[in-house]
Amino acid sequence: MRAVTWQGKRDVRVEDVPDPTIQEPTDVIIEVTSSGLCGSDLHLYETLGAFLHPGDVLGHEPMGRVVATGSAITDLRVGDRVVVPFQIACGRCWMCQHDLQTQCETTQVREHGMGAALFGYTDLYGSVPGGQAELLRVPHADYGPIKVEDGPDDDRFLFLSDVLPTAWQGVRYAGVVPGDVLVVLGLGPIGEMAARVALQQGVRVIGVDRVPARLERSRTLGVDVLELGSDLVEEVLSRTDGRGADAVLDAVGMEAHGSPVAEVAQKVASRLPDALARPLMTSASTDRLEALKTAVALVRRGGTVSLSGVYAGAADPLPMQTIFDKQLTLKMGQANVRRWLEEMLPLVQDPSDPLGLETFATHHRPLEEAPAAYAAFQAKDDDMIKTVFRP
Ligand code: NAD
Ligand code: ZN
Ligand code: ZN
Repeated sequence: MRAVTWQGKRDVRVEDVPDPTIQEPTDVIIEVTSSGLCGSDLHLYETLGAFLHPGDVLGHEPMGRVVATGSAITDLRVGDRVVVPFQIACGRCWMCQHDLQTQCETTQVREHGMGAALFGYTDLYGSVPGGQAELLRVPHADYGPIKVEDGPDDDRFLFLSDVLPTAWQGVRYAGVVPGDVLVVLGLGPIGEMAARVALQQGVRVIGVDRVPARLERSRTLGVDVLELGSDLVEEVLSRTDGRGADAVLDAVGMEAHGSPVAEVAQKVASRLPDALARPLMTSASTDRLEALKTAVALVRRGGTVSLSGVYAGAADPLPMQTIFDKQLTLKMGQANVRRWLEEMLPLVQDPSDPLGLETFATHHRPLEEAPAAYAAFQAKDDDMIKTVFRP
């Protein structure tokens, strides 16, 4: 089959790789019909090369049709249309039972002290081949895949794999209620979807980014947009009776603009034990916390900072004095997809498509165009916000 493979920093290629096969009774194989390109793929493309091997298959936002089932699969049949959550969870362990599917104790990647295995996320998260491919092996398919109806376009359901639950969790973790002010940092796919969810819930949204096309698209949704570079603290205070936002959602993560990652230091540090890595990271890349520090600055006292953006690598110092003094609540983590399913489904299934899922993707591309799509998404130099591959 054809698949998008990582070959080196900023080097992905579409190659022939062996077709996946059923390996466990709880596996299914799906023929992928749509597969998202995500900001999380860019961490692998740009920053986390130390964890990858040439040939690793990328992608963690797939949907498609079941073409083979393991002997223990009873709820899925060949031909079923499914969306596959980006995390692989068993549904039975203590963590899964407590709706912390990204911490699943069965698939947890113990050697790195990380949470549940993820599709297409290298040695960091279990080395499971990803879904930017023609076929995908889905482990623990007796729990993970979400069966969806025939009829509507793939895009109506596809974002259940990652973008929508990530945005949903980010907004829920922000703890906002109707009338509250939520600042969303970063108006990429995650930030924009979080803004859509929050607006839909009657929350006032202020959005921050630097890319004109992204600011413009969010503005048309009803977001009060601010360009990075303006005096954000002043602007937010003037919109919140001088108090600050009730919550800030960071949809940027560690590769914030204005804070070049000290790549060499990070690469070296990622191979060292923490005690050795920490001094290296503190001297070289404290700015990786740019977005988080901005969030801490914009939130009101007693407010909540909700992190959807990914932070990885060795520990960085936090603005602890301010976090303590402002009595902040920080909530974060990979999104637990199935946890939010019951809340999200009515909006996804509503024929009027209140979240605008069917028009969310800006680009649909054949798999073969992945190298160009990765480069354009990384450069953020045009109107490409969300790309969906159609293998
Ligand atoms: P993206 O790279 O398209 O979006 C990031 C946006 O932030 C860009 O529009 C960029 O211009 C903007 N930005 C950069 N620096 C900024 C700054 N200092 N202040 C404000 N905005 C700034 O990617 P995305 O797909 O939207 O993903 C966003 C983040 O969410 C990534 O870190 C991604 O890994 C993470 N993510 C987390 C989960 C989860 O489960 N928690 C799931 C998916 C994605
Ligand atoms: Zn994703
Ligand atoms: Zn589990």
